[in-house]
Amino acid sequence: MRPQASLPTPLRAALSAALVLAAAGLSSCATSGVNQGDVNLVSLEEEWALGQKLEADIARQVRLVDDRSIVGYVDALGQRIVRQTELGRLPWEFHVVADGEVNAFNIPGGHVYVNTGLIAAAGDVGELAGVLAHEISHGVARHGTEQLTRVYGLNIVAGVLLGNDPQTYERILAQILGTGAIARFSRSAEREADDLGVRFMWEAGYDPNGMVRMFEGLLSRRRGQPSSVDKFFATHPLTEERIRATRAEIAKLPAKSGLISRDAAYQSVRGEVGRYN
Ligand code: ZN
Repeated sequence: MRPQASLPTPLRAALSAALVLAAAGLSSCATSGVNQGDVNLVSLEEEWALGQKLEADIARQVRLVDDRSIVGYVDALGQRIVRQTELGRLPWEFHVVADGEVNAFNIPGGHVYVNTGLIAAAGDVGELAGVLAHEISHGVARHGTEQLTRVYGLNIVAGVLLGNDPQTYERILAQILGTGAIARFSRSAEREADDLGVRFMWEAGYDPNGMVRMFEGLLSRRRGQPSSVDKFFATHPLTEERIRATRAEIAKLPAKSGLISRDAAYQSVRGEVGRYN
């Protein structure tokens, strides 16, 4: 059992220090457009504590890959993108789920899950980076806890975070396990995650066109094998219009040489995930 109700003191101290730094970073990034205009009653510290609890419960109920050559690759890629963000000083974790369905999702508190089916479907590292950047951006914009605030209001803090309402917590957990996400994101939340994701990819040194290729691949897969992308489309509304908007966002970026689209290591990871699908 992992400790859930309270963090060990050194970890709590480290987390608090990180949160102070992150808060300082946030106030100096007023132009980023991150998390503006929507009410969020959950503090960053509460969100990270909720994430830790959800992560432990998810780990008991889904089959996670523990092969370091796969998880280490995804984690290194994810952390490189996270470091470009306003919440890059907080602890983030990347998990690989042994599931052939093409899906990826973010839950509160810096946890991103990617199915082995999605790794197999992404043609190059640029495409995988595109999905990770999109999911990371949902987390940085705090769309999950914004949604929880909308649905549960003030009860979210007293009931779920302080443990006074286990039924609501179980409902949130069941929703994540059932639909593969905390919420069906709105079109404006999707748009924000795309725009931020493009910027974070570019800053991390990845060609943001990988996100466009990944989305196009998902749309064509929906035409051919709709059941393989059901969950992704149920929680992330994806349209041709979104892809056009993403291209337009990329076109605004200054030229930058050496942006990465493919690497040899990715192809070997892609080969290894086959046995989990
Ligand atoms: Zn999304």
